[in-house]
Amino acid sequence: MTKAPPAFHVLAKPTGAICNLDCKYCFFLSKEMLYPGSRFRMADELLEAYIQQLLEAHQVPEVTIAWQGGEPTLMGLDFFKRSIEYVEQYKKPEQRVSHTMQTNGTKLDDDWCVFFKEHNFLIGLSVDGPQAMHDAYRVNKGGEGSFPQVMLGLDYLKAHEVDFNILCTVHAANADRPLEVYRFFRDDLGAEFIQFIPIVERATEQLLPLANLGWSERAGAQRPLYVQQGSLVTERTVTAEQYGDFLIAIFDEWVKRDVGNIYVQLFDVTLGSWVGQHNLCIFSPTCGNALAIEHNGDLYACDHYVEPDYLLGNILEERMIDLVASEQQRKFGQDKFDTLPKYCRECEVLFACYGGCPKNRFIETPEGEPGLNYLCAGYKKFFKHVSEPMRFMANELRYNRAPANVMAFMAHRDAQLQQLFAKAHRNDPCPCGSGLKFKQCHYRRMGEQG
Ligand code: SF4
Ligand code: SF4
Repeated sequence: MTKAPPAFHVLAKPTGAICNLDCKYCFFLSKEMLYPGSRFRMADELLEAYIQQLLEAHQVPEVTIAWQGGEPTLMGLDFFKRSIEYVEQYKKPEQRVSHTMQTNGTKLDDDWCVFFKEHNFLIGLSVDGPQAMHDAYRVNKGGEGSFPQVMLGLDYLKAHEVDFNILCTVHAANADRPLEVYRFFRDDLGAEFIQFIPIVERATEQLLPLANLGWSERAGAQRPLYVQQGSLVTERTVTAEQYGDFLIAIFDEWVKRDVGNIYVQLFDVTLGSWVGQHNLCIFSPTCGNALAIEHNGDLYACDHYVEPDYLLGNILEERMIDLVASEQQRKFGQDKFDTLPKYCRECEVLFACYGGCPKNRFIETPEGEPGLNYLCAGYKKFFKHVSEPMRFMANELRYNRAPANVMAFMAHRDAQLQQLFAKAHRNDPCPCGSGLKFKQCHYRRMGEQG
């Protein structure tokens, strides 16, 4: 056994993968097949044991209890009220406990939101953009879009002033419309915290036709269990280029007008990398401190690896802290770095990317080495694109100044560039420094914008 970490993160799935929606890209739905015959409800004894062990294991004052699914609200409010009672019972005197829940929002009402507000829950609400983009894949069991119910849920959150962030998956139906998506969250929903998660659904050649149909149960049809295998992707999956361009378009708007007001998780994490901090597992050198617990107490290496090979054990049979500190888990986390292909180790943005999440490392490098991240081209483009403003913001932080000063810096830089563009000839190198000819770069873009 290795030394236990002083803190770690667990996503608890009290209903397992069970959800009232049937989102087409949600391969978590298929994890139901791992527990045939289960009722998929975390029992009260397990809830108590989980809270007790989680609080006991933490050697730092801050502890987060994170609920997710499936859809956690299907457990009913009383389950979460009991979780608060157990927290009060088992928390150490110096511990400060915060609560988060990721929800599709469709079950929220006044009772839920009064409870959330009273206990300072931070709610992650899944929305994929304006109605047509959201409803493309986020559908109910009858195949109807869930947008109206989600907006109702958001109204309840706002009415009770519950803190929320928007979690938006990026996929084939919204990836080409970044600004519409971002402005909808910022201007129409009044969101201040936004996360973007790329949809990458892997499949083998054999599995792909079924995978393209989605991951839920279908009467009379075969259903695949999602495992991290195969080098093909479903038709819903975002391409690397699309993802990079999506992030760049939003960054360019954010960095000119929203810094300090709108928090986009990936931009914050990226700034962290520029000052030498790694605040998100996927862009850290190693991982393994973000586990997942199923409804029956089975603890897995990560929420993305809820599959038999990554089961660490059950917390009713072995102490959670021993499972977290196990050699199996240490190796899982260390492998993130140890399996990096040479192409990544020599990459100029390695310090910000670290090869991304291992679950997406299923393509080959240009030299034919396996283990490159499917999103590599997008990551590289994004990290290179943001380099200058990130450097500026990192410098502001170093001198205890506000990173938001970057907006004035960008305005000044843009004004200078406009002057240079006005003087440039079509065949000159583009004044923006891209290395392309002016006619292939900003000259063309200016033309496209009319
Ligand atoms: S496998 Fe990916 S999501 Fe899971 S802990 Fe590692 S980097 Fe994070
Ligand atoms: S950008 Fe690509 S090559 Fe560079 S570290 Fe990330 S995945 Fe590896």
